[in-house]
Amino acid sequence: MKDSNAGDLLRSIPSMDELLGAPWAARFYGGLGRETVKSVITEALNGVKRDICEGTRFSLPAAEIAARRATGMLNARLTSTLKPVINATGVAVHTNLGRAPLAREALRAVSDIALSYSTLEYSPEKGGRAGRNAHVEWLICQITGAEAALAVNNNAAAVLLALSATAAGREVIVSAGELVEIGDSFRIPEILAFSGAKMKAVGCTNSVRIEDYSNAVTENTAVLLKVHPSNYRIDGFVKSTSREELARLAADRNLVFIEDLGSGLLCRLKLPFADREHSVKDCLEAGSAVVTFSGDKLLGGPQIGVIAGAKRIIDSMKRHQLLRAFRTDKMTLAAFEATLRLYLLGRQRDIPVISMIEADKSVLLKKARSLRRVLSRTASGVKPGGFAVSVVETLDAAGGGSYPTDAIPGFGVEIRASSVSVEALSARLRTAGVPVIGTVRDGCLVLHVRTLLPGDEKSLAASFKEALSSL
Ligand SMILES: *Cc1c(COP(=O)(O)O)cnc(C)c1O
Repeated sequence: MKDSNAGDLLRSIPSMDELLGAPWAARFYGGLGRETVKSVITEALNGVKRDICEGTRFSLPAAEIAARRATGMLNARLTSTLKPVINATGVAVHTNLGRAPLAREALRAVSDIALSYSTLEYSPEKGGRAGRNAHVEWLICQITGAEAALAVNNNAAAVLLALSATAAGREVIVSAGELVEIGDSFRIPEILAFSGAKMKAVGCTNSVRIEDYSNAVTENTAVLLKVHPSNYRIDGFVKSTSREELARLAADRNLVFIEDLGSGLLCRLKLPFADREHSVKDCLEAGSAVVTFSGDKLLGGPQIGVIAGAKRIIDSMKRHQLLRAFRTDKMTLAAFEATLRLYLLGRQRDIPVISMIEADKSVLLKKARSLRRVLSRTASGVKPGGFAVSVVETLDAAGGGSYPTDAIPGFGVEIRASSVSVEALSARLRTAGVPVIGTVRDGCLVLHVRTLLPGDEKSLAASFKEALSSL
């Protein structure tokens, strides 16, 4: 609604020349340059004008609003928008929050390689060119039992390359129940179409038998594809086909059995329902010829995709043109190599995602009690009596499409506010210097401790203080 004095307000906004001449604007010239400052102020002014036209009421003069808005935006342009946050959601592999935080060893490897020249595609022994994939292939094979392996940018690229190399112009048979969408952009039918393969969906949403697959095979069929349904599970009457049956059919009819496993589980997790996810090794042993998986889900490494399995098939992918477009960056490879070596050495508990998922309840309870003490002290220092902080039980999750319906019991702290809304408190915490992302339950903010990293408690207390002071 247009306010009656909107016109007056609009007219009271200073001109661009006046704003550019103001001392607060001049302070940014040195760093950003006058042209950039001007374009950010224009953006800020447009925002203020839009707010005025939409009827927003301001308690300050328009000139002051414009100056504050512009200063805020100019400061924001000088700082990274990609920055650390505190994940207090209890979801270990959180896609929006950067999936897996890296192990220290992985970080060290990245900084060594990033600041220097490296053996990325060079063999000191030969004194000449070597392939970048060699840095990780032996490790993947050793850990998964695969004959060969190939690393690419992410699992979406791995699936696309695997299908393009084995099935372009031919048919791929896949269960109708596995035509899933993962995240908001990876859709199996679309990836299949993109690879040049022809999709043949068999069975029903909740049921597929081996006969459905075998009846669909023609002389133009190249691949049997199995896809991890990731973020969903069907309960009730479900009939699926085992890997062993699919492997047998593939062998009989000379087809390639490819499995998109999604989360690349490389070890057995200490969880009561651990068996609901299969490791890459399990899948290969059960007969999948080729398995594709992500590096930054349950594996706990950097964003990468892996294709692991039979040498003869992987070799054809190593020669494929798409590989050039999907090849991995040196920093990613360094982080991945270091993460894989932790598995090789049996040190997977040094990988943050694995240790978070397996964290003992007693350890989590201790962490929650400590956080409650720190936050209570902060709250009574800033707003005495305004907030109640208590330890509560939580339901956490592995995330990343794994164990989609299996909650992991954990602990957290619950914050009740007497005079402000939980939404306002959550918003202030999200926009603090170090953003804190929690969950809201029954009108309270819950901070899950499972996903807090070493050092997070201190930063969380500082962000909490900042949030309370601004409320
Ligand atoms: C996550 C996932 C993908 C996509 O993997 P990215 O590494 O994000 O590209 C593909 N397939 C399945 C089954 C997944 O779970």
